[in-house]
Amino acid sequence: MSLKTCILFLSVLFAGGILCAGNELVKDGKACSAIIVGEKPTRSAQFAAFELQHLIKLITDCEVPIVAKAPEPVKTRLNVGADSCEYAKKTAAGLTGEEYAVESKGNDIYLFGNDSPEFGKVDYNSPKTFPPLNYEFRGTEFAVYDFLEKACGVRFYSPGDDGTVYQKSPTLSVNTPSIRRAPKMDAFRNALYHSPETRDGFLLRHRWRTALIYSEMGHNAFSIYYRYWKPSKIPHLAKLFIAHHPEYFAQGYEGKNAANSLRTWSWPDDKDLPSQVCFSHPEVRKYFAREAVDAYNGKNAVGAISRAKRMPGKPFYYPMGEDDVGNICLCAECAKEKGTNPRWDGRAQLRWINGIAREAAKLNPDVGIATWSYEHSLFYDKTIPLEKNVSVQVCIAPQSWFHPDVYKKQHGIYKEWIENEGGKRPITVWTYLLTPAWEAQRIYKYQKFFPVLYPWKVGEYFKEFANDGVKGAFVEVQLKHNPLEAYVAARICDDPSVDVNQLIDEYFTFYYGKAGPAMRQFYKRLEEHAWNIGNYHEYVKKNPPRGSFTYYVHPDFANYHLGNPKVMAELQGYIDSALKSASAPVEKKRVQKFIDDIWRQAVEGRVEFEKRDRERKNPVPEATLAYTAEYGGDPMKADFQASGKAFPMTTVDGKAAKTQASLRFASDSTHFYVLFQEKDPGASSRPKADIWGDNLEIFFTNEKKSEYFQFAVAPDGRTEAIQVSVVNGVVREEKWNVAPVVKSGVDANGWTLKLAIPLKSFSPLIPLEPGKPLYANFFRTRGFDWTEKSLCWSPIFSIVHREGLPRVGKIFLARKSHAKTIDCNSSFKVTGDGKYPDGWKCDHAAKPGFENIFGVKDGVLTIDSLGRSDMFRVERRDYVKVNAGDKIVFEFKAKGKNTAFCGLYFYPWPPGGWNRVEFSPTGEWKDFKVVVPVERTAQKKGENSVINEVRILLGVNLSGRPSPSAVEIKNMKVSLQPGEK
Ligand SMILES: [Zn+2]
Repeated sequence: MSLKTCILFLSVLFAGGILCAGNELVKDGKACSAIIVGEKPTRSAQFAAFELQHLIKLITDCEVPIVAKAPEPVKTRLNVGADSCEYAKKTAAGLTGEEYAVESKGNDIYLFGNDSPEFGKVDYNSPKTFPPLNYEFRGTEFAVYDFLEKACGVRFYSPGDDGTVYQKSPTLSVNTPSIRRAPKMDAFRNALYHSPETRDGFLLRHRWRTALIYSEMGHNAFSIYYRYWKPSKIPHLAKLFIAHHPEYFAQGYEGKNAANSLRTWSWPDDKDLPSQVCFSHPEVRKYFAREAVDAYNGKNAVGAISRAKRMPGKPFYYPMGEDDVGNICLCAECAKEKGTNPRWDGRAQLRWINGIAREAAKLNPDVGIATWSYEHSLFYDKTIPLEKNVSVQVCIAPQSWFHPDVYKKQHGIYKEWIENEGGKRPITVWTYLLTPAWEAQRIYKYQKFFPVLYPWKVGEYFKEFANDGVKGAFVEVQLKHNPLEAYVAARICDDPSVDVNQLIDEYFTFYYGKAGPAMRQFYKRLEEHAWNIGNYHEYVKKNPPRGSFTYYVHPDFANYHLGNPKVMAELQGYIDSALKSASAPVEKKRVQKFIDDIWRQAVEGRVEFEKRDRERKNPVPEATLAYTAEYGGDPMKADFQASGKAFPMTTVDGKAAKTQASLRFASDSTHFYVLFQEKDPGASSRPKADIWGDNLEIFFTNEKKSEYFQFAVAPDGRTEAIQVSVVNGVVREEKWNVAPVVKSGVDANGWTLKLAIPLKSFSPLIPLEPGKPLYANFFRTRGFDWTEKSLCWSPIFSIVHREGLPRVGKIFLARKSHAKTIDCNSSFKVTGDGKYPDGWKCDHAAKPGFENIFGVKDGVLTIDSLGRSDMFRVERRDYVKVNAGDKIVFEFKAKGKNTAFCGLYFYPWPPGGWNRVEFSPTGEWKDFKVVVPVERTAQKKGENSVINEVRILLGVNLSGRPSPSAVEIKNMKVSLQPGEK
C-alpha cells in the first residue's frame, strides 16, 4: 500500500467504520484471530506479540490470545516471529541485520524479521525484560509496528495510551501491505535519549525503532586511568592498577586540579590528575587498540564506558572519545602545532585516532575505531587522511541553523565530510535540538522560556542526512519541549521516504483532531518566526555561537526578544482557538498537555522576564580598589580603609536591612581580601547550624555570568567551595580547590570575618587581572531568621541565590603602578585630514565661534582663549591606569602669555574630581616640568579617595584668574611616577 492510499485508507477509517475488505481480526467485539508465536519465540517476537495484543485491545476492547500454535477454529492467524510457522521460519532465514517482512496470504498474516537469538522471557509489565535497544536485532518488532501503523491506522506520537492514536471500533478488519525492508539508518537511531526511563518511555523507544547496532560514539578514554594512573579510591577498580605511567597522560597540567569526569569518585584530591591521555604516546595507542579488539572478541574492558558489541553481518567500530573537558596534552609531540595552527588540538586528536586504528588493524583488520568531529575537532581537514577503519560522527546543532553564519559553517563542514568521506566510511551525526530549554534551565537558569518549535525544518534537515547516506543519528532532544521534532526525526531515521508535510499534517489531524488546524497554525507561525534571523536580538545576530553544541543563543533578554509581546499574543490566539475547537476528551487532554508542557511556562516566563528586566535597570554596585601595599595573603594586614569604601548590605530586594552588615574589599598582586562585619548581639549565642543556613556566601563569575564559583564561610570558619562550569554545553558541578585564609570571630557585638582568596585559584574559569573587574555577589545567609533570610551586596530580586548571577556587582581589582612613559600622542601627530592631534579632543571647540581655540601645526599644539577670560581645556581621550598618590610628570617646551596648566581628570566617576598645576609661559620657547599629583584637590572627609584611572588634559586660564591666555606646546613627554608605597 502506498503512503497515499494509506492516508486515504486512514481518512476513511477515521471517518468511522471499516469499509475495506480483508482479514478480520475482531468482529463485533469478539476475537476471530490469534497471535501465534511458536514454541520458542525470540525476546523480540514475544514483545512484539504483547504490543500487537495491546493495540488490538485498545482499538476493539477485545483481547486476542497469544498462543504457541494456531487453535482451531480461528479465522485469521497473526503469525508473529520466525518461530510462528514454517513459512516465517524459512523466509526469516534469508533476512539479515534489522530486516523484516510484513505479508499476508489467505487467512495468514506474517509479521517477522531477523531477531537476535535471545529467548529470555518477556514480562510486558516489566521494561527490564524487554529486548534491549542496543546490540540486538529486533526485526519482528519492527514488522509488528509497521503492521499496526500501515494496516491498523495506529500512530505512536508520545508516551502511553494517551499519546497513541487509533480509531475505536468493535470490528477490526485489515488489508495487509506487503513489506520487506530494514530501517534506513542501520548504525543507530535514537531520538529519545533525554526521555523518561519509565515503562511508557521504553515502549515509545521501541515504537520509534530506537536501536544501536554499530559505530556509536562516546567519551570512552577512561579505562587506562585505573591501570596506569594511580589506584582508584573505588576498591574494585583499584584492583586494576598495574603501574604509574604519568607519561601516558596529558602533560602540562601538574598541580592544576584539571577537570576529569572520574575525579569525584576515583581521585578526588589528586591535583595532578590530567583531563586527557597523551594523544601521541605509542603505548597509549596500543592500549586502546587492544581494548577495541577485546571488545570485538566479546570482552569489554572493566572500567571502559562502552559496551560495544560486534553484530553479525555489520561492521564494528569501537568508540574512542576523549573526556569532554578540553585540556589537551601539551607534550612536545601533541602540541607541536600549538601556536601555529588554530586547530592543533583537534588535529592531535585525529592523529591519535589514526594511530589507534592502525594498531587495531594490525591485530585484526575487521576492527574499526569510531571518532567524531566535535567541538575542537569540528572541521574537515584533508591534510590528515583518516585510516580506512575509522568511522566519523559529525556533531552539529540544527537547533541554531536559523542563523545564517551557523548554518553556513556547520552545514558546510557536514557536507565536506559527506562529499569527501561518505563513500569511504560510515558517517553518522550527533544533533542538538535542545535549546532554548537547555539554556534557560541549565545554563542561564531563568527556567521559563519562549519555546522554539521547528518540525518542518527538522524534517528538511533529517531528510538531507538520510538521503546523504548518513548511517546513524543520535538526536539530543527533550520530548517534553520538542515532541513533534523528536517524532519527525525518529521517523525519518527509520524511513526517509516519508513525505514530511504529510507526516506533520497527519500528526495535527490525528493527534489533535478538531483542534488540529489551530495547533498547526501555532507551529507554522512559530517556525516561520524562529527561522528568520531578522527576528533575533542584535546580540544573537552579531555573536553566532561556535562549536558543535551551540549554546549562548538564549540568554533571557534574547529569548524574550524573540518571544516579543506581539508574537506571543498572536500565538495565544491559536491556543485559544485550539482550546475552543477541541471536542473529544482526548483532544482536550492533548491540547491541555501542550499548554502544560510548553505554552503556559512561556507566558509565565514572559511576565517574570519583564519583572527581571525592570529590576535589572537598577544599577549593580561597583567597587574600585586602590593599591596600597602587598599583604602577603594575610587578611589581618589588609588595609580595607584605604582600599575602598564600605558597602552596607541590603535585603535581596535592595531595601535597608534590619540587621546591620557591611562589606569592604581590598586586593594586591596575589590575593583578593574581604572584610565582613555584622552587628548582631545574638551571634554568639546562636547554636551551630548547617553551613548553607548560616554563612557569608560569595558567588564569583565571569563576564558571561554562566560559570561560577560558590564559596561559603560559616561563623566558626568552616568553608564549602563549589565550581560550576559549562563544558561543551554540559553543566559540571565539582569541588573548587581554593585555599582561602579565614579569620572569623564572633563576640557579643556580632560577627567579623576577614578573608584572603588567592587570585590564582580563579584561573582558568575566571581570568583575573589587576585593574580588571571581578564579577561577584555576597550574601549573608540567615536561614535561622525567617523575617530576613538573606542580605546581599547587589540586590537580586529573588530568594534563590543562584538565580542572581546576572546581577553580580563589579570589583575593579587594585593595580600596582610602575614608572613608565605614557603614550598620549604627545608629539601631536595628526593623521588624515584631522583637525586635532589623534586621540585628543576639545569640547569647547564644538561651539560655534570657538572652533579655533585648539589647533595643531607642525607638532605644535596651540590653545588660545581668543581674548576671553574663560577656562578652556583640551583632553586626551584614553585612560591611564594609576593609583592615588602617584604623580604624572609633564615635560615640554612652551611659549605664550599669562596662565596655562597641566591637569588630570580622575576616574571612576562619580565622584570624579580633578587636579591641575599651572605654569606661566612667556614670549620665548622655554623648558617646563610640571608635576601633577594623583589626588583630589578638595576632598571632603569620608569621600571616596579611590582613583584608578586618569585622563590627561592641558588648558589655559585657571578659574579665578581671569586673564586672556594663550599657549603653544611642543616636544612633550608625559610619564608616571609611582607614589611611595
Ligand atoms: Zn602528548
